[in-house]
Amino acid sequence: RKRSDDGNWNIVIVGSGPTGVELAGAFAEMKKDILPRDYPHMNFDNLNIILVSSTTTPLSVMSEESQQMSEKYLKELGVQFMSDEFVTDYDGDKVYMKSGKTIASNNVIWAAGVIGNIIEGLNPDVMIRNRYKTDRFNRVLGYQNIYAIGDIAYMETPKYPQAHPQVANVAINQGKNLGRNFLRKSENDWKEYEYTDRGSMATIGKHRAVVDLPGFKFQGFLAWYFWMFLHLMLILSVRNKIAIFFNWMWSYLNKDSSLRLIIIPNKKNNTEQ
Ligand SMILES: Cc1cc2nc3c(=O)[nH]c(=O)nc-3n(C[C@H](O)[C@H](O)[C@H](O)COP(=O)(O)OP(=O)(O)OC[C@H]3O[C@@H](n4cnc5c(N)ncnc54)[C@H](O)[C@@H]3O)c2cc1C
Repeated sequence: RKRSDDGNWNIVIVGSGPTGVELAGAFAEMKKDILPRDYPHMNFDNLNIILVSSTTTPLSVMSEESQQMSEKYLKELGVQFMSDEFVTDYDGDKVYMKSGKTIASNNVIWAAGVIGNIIEGLNPDVMIRNRYKTDRFNRVLGYQNIYAIGDIAYMETPKYPQAHPQVANVAINQGKNLGRNFLRKSENDWKEYEYTDRGSMATIGKHRAVVDLPGFKFQGFLAWYFWMFLHLMLILSVRNKIAIFFNWMWSYLNKDSSLRLIIIPNKKNNTEQ
């Protein structure tokens, strides 16, 4: 398919981790079901959803099966996947890549990760890629009373020699572990932190998902329902669970979004001018 030179028609998502892949899938569903209904006078065949990634496959941190299936699902949804392309710059009109290629786009979404804020005064030598190097108790190296937890912490362990992944589970459990350690009478009783990976998953549009559980992987329709069920269970309070369940059912059945801003030129005013 030809890529449009008009930046308005190219949605560029940078980064093909779970965030980028899920966004690309959601935009593809929007292009198919929502936009043509809201703007019946426009032809959305020209709308390109382009996922740019420095990796060879999407979801490079997941299993090989998930990588291959997610690439296939993206293709089925009409998403253009640009592999091995490292984005170097964006000037508001064009996305620039290391290879010299460019894409005209007025809609760029950064999904290639976030970095933590540097705190002035702390020894810069304890920083690795904007994360603070800590010991196994989340204590910043070289300091007695400064701790770093979650995304900002860079803790090397035999299981994770290049530090833990920047995910919510690590942040929550490092916080819990450190809190429990503070409550212990002696520092000799402190427990080291280690991450137990319970798996990861990502959805790619409607009815398609990939799930990697320890020792068990599956993809497709069933994986999508599993994703929905698990996320519903993780939502706090029964009331919220029920409310969200009905919202999801409503969206599922009518293939629509409850949030929208529709801008249609006012014909009457235009002719009067
Ligand atoms: C788009 C996206 C999708 C994600 N999806 C998932 C997912 O599906 N599953 C998953 O496990 N993880 C996911 N993550 C990662 C997850 O959100 C992080 O790993 C997690 O939030 C880390 O928690 P944290 O407490 O370390 O940092 P954060 O949640 O980032 O919290 C840091 C807080 O500190 C504040 N702050 C920063 N600097 C200062 C300062 N100088 N002074 C005061 N406050 C400051 C920030 O405003 C923020 O509120 C996702 C991340 C992104 C960006």
